[in-house]
Amino acid sequence: MRRGPVKFVLIHHAACDARVHYRISGSGETVALLNESERATHANSIEIRLDGSFSESPPDKRQTDALKDLLLTLKQRYPDLAVGGHRQVRGSRTDCPGRKFPLKALLAWSRSGLIEARDAALQEEVDRQYRP
Ligand SMILES: [Zn+2]
Repeated sequence: MRRGPVKFVLIHHAACDARVHYRISGSGETVALLNESERATHANSIEIRLDGSFSESPPDKRQTDALKDLLLTLKQRYPDLAVGGHRQVRGSRTDCPGRKFPLKALLAWSRSGLIEARDAALQEEVDRQYRP
C-alpha cells in the first residue's frame, strides 16, 4: 500500500500494536523496521514506537532523547512534518502513546526547539561546504 506524501510523524507506545517505521528501545536505541517509502499504519505518516507502556509511567529520558534526535533527522528530510501522538488522529479510540507520555511538552518542543535545531543543522551543513 502507498504511504502518500509525508505530512505527519506519529508517536506510539508498545501497548499499541501499530505497524511502525522505527522502534526506540528502552535504552534509547533506534531501529528501522520499515523503509520510509512504505506505508505503516496511517497514510501520510512516518510512525515511531517507543518500547514500554506509558499509561502508568513516563518513558525513560534516553528514549525521549533518542526520539528528539530521530525527529530532527526526519525534519531535515521532510521540512513540513508535523509531530503528533496516535490519539490525535481523528476517529482514533486510543490513549496511545499513553497518558504519562509527555506529549504536550514534545509538541511544544517540535514547534520551537526542533525548528531551531533543524536550522542550526542546515547552517552547519552550509558552513562545511562554503567559505564566507
Ligand atoms: Zn498507537
